[in-house]
Amino acid sequence: MARSLKILFATSEARPLVKTGGLADVSGALPAALREIGVDCRLLLPGYHPVLAGVKNLETALNLTNLPGFGPVRLLQGEMPDSGVPVYVVDYPFHFQRPGGPYQDVNGADYPDNAWRFALLSRVAALLTCPLSPLMDWRPDLLHCHDWQTGLAPAYLHFVGCGTPTVMTIHNLAYQGIFPPELVSQLGLPLESFAVEGVEYYGNLSFLKAGVYYADWISTVSPTYAMEIQHAPLGMGMQGLLASRTNTLSGILNGIDTADWNPPADLHLPCEYSARSMGGKKHCKRSLQEDLNLEDNPQAPLFGMISRLTHQKGVDWVLQVADGIVDQGGQLVFLGQGEATVEQGVRDLAGRHPGKVAAVVGYDEGLSHRIEAGSDLFLMPSRFEPCGLNQMYSQRYGTVPIVHGVGGLKDTVEDEVTGFVFGEPSAHGLWTAVERALAAFADKPHWRRMMLAGMTQDFSWEVSAKEYAALYRKLVG
Ligand code: ADP
Repeated sequence: MARSLKILFATSEARPLVKTGGLADVSGALPAALREIGVDCRLLLPGYHPVLAGVKNLETALNLTNLPGFGPVRLLQGEMPDSGVPVYVVDYPFHFQRPGGPYQDVNGADYPDNAWRFALLSRVAALLTCPLSPLMDWRPDLLHCHDWQTGLAPAYLHFVGCGTPTVMTIHNLAYQGIFPPELVSQLGLPLESFAVEGVEYYGNLSFLKAGVYYADWISTVSPTYAMEIQHAPLGMGMQGLLASRTNTLSGILNGIDTADWNPPADLHLPCEYSARSMGGKKHCKRSLQEDLNLEDNPQAPLFGMISRLTHQKGVDWVLQVADGIVDQGGQLVFLGQGEATVEQGVRDLAGRHPGKVAAVVGYDEGLSHRIEAGSDLFLMPSRFEPCGLNQMYSQRYGTVPIVHGVGGLKDTVEDEVTGFVFGEPSAHGLWTAVERALAAFADKPHWRRMMLAGMTQDFSWEVSAKEYAALYRKLVG
């Protein structure tokens, strides 16, 4: 039997222990999906309080006593509470056990020592990986780093002359881990690394740039986003470097949690349904209309939107077309929170159209499931979208998505087959797609075919895990 590949998956968050965004979903699901297909993938996480409290069977694996710049660090070992995936935890209370979130204090301010905190995580990742310092019986064949928080690890490995391959995955290029240049030597990087061909980024140190520069392979969360970040504006200043790495840069789509987002067994819904038995979806629509004080009208096309209310998500374009949707007999439901002006915009819209538009400002997981199930159409006109999840949930729930053809939206929605894709980045572009969607909605047999086409797509993590495994094998050789 072939020896299984060993992968260390270094990340700063993982569901269900600690989550601020999509990175946690990937870290919670992908290692388990990799283990299902025979890859020995293990997590490395910082020892935040919820991690220490949540990991099962935690015990000391190693004591690390001579990490420059840090006191004694304990490396713990245990298992993820839900999946049982083996997990190593960097236990260093001074840096990781504090009130507040993983990166920010209770007032939302970045911790002033974030560079030290995540340099430590990166250092431990490099130490566990490097065959020159065999600390444990288990040593990975490849180190997989995620976002800026682990970006220094490939640099550390490079400067100790360690040949173990590394992958750097970019989940969000907007966060680059930028710190003052004097930290370069304090964090144990040689001064020569502070160069355009190294960790320097417009006069500062960038952890993400370090990872992108020194990793053997760069990946991001959709093939189209992998192309887009090689150019301005979505390259966000790193497009030159990313374009120079075009032969070692690829996009692998995220999957979705198909157990959590599963209309035949979704406990958040008033009624279950499936591609074979769609009756329950009508009941979900009626119940959503009732809960949100919308007119009880089964014929009205009901548009849902669940989103962070930010400029990125194109909510302003939706606000511009919303009157037109209502004029055509449509209804709209918003769930989201974010920028105060955008929140006010959706509230005002709902105020102008009682019974036709509902706006719920806040975060509500149960309601997000009920909106996916109860809506006929879903709006996702993001200006950019590395991968995006809701367009995939929508298809699984027979709710036809209308999306801007960028990033992961372009890669997961097929125009006129599983949804409607528009190209022009404007409210007008969105409106042209809304008009096409309304025409299709009026043709019931055609609409049903579109719903079923979406419901039968395979967005499971298994598909992504196979692609990551193939990439790992290529790099390990
Ligand atoms: P992003 O990570 O850019 O916010 P994604 O579509 O990748 O966008 O993922 C967002 C996730 O958060 C989805 O699962 C979405 O349903 C969920 N979500 C966003 N806002 C809310 C909200 N207000 N209430 C409940 N879930 C939300």
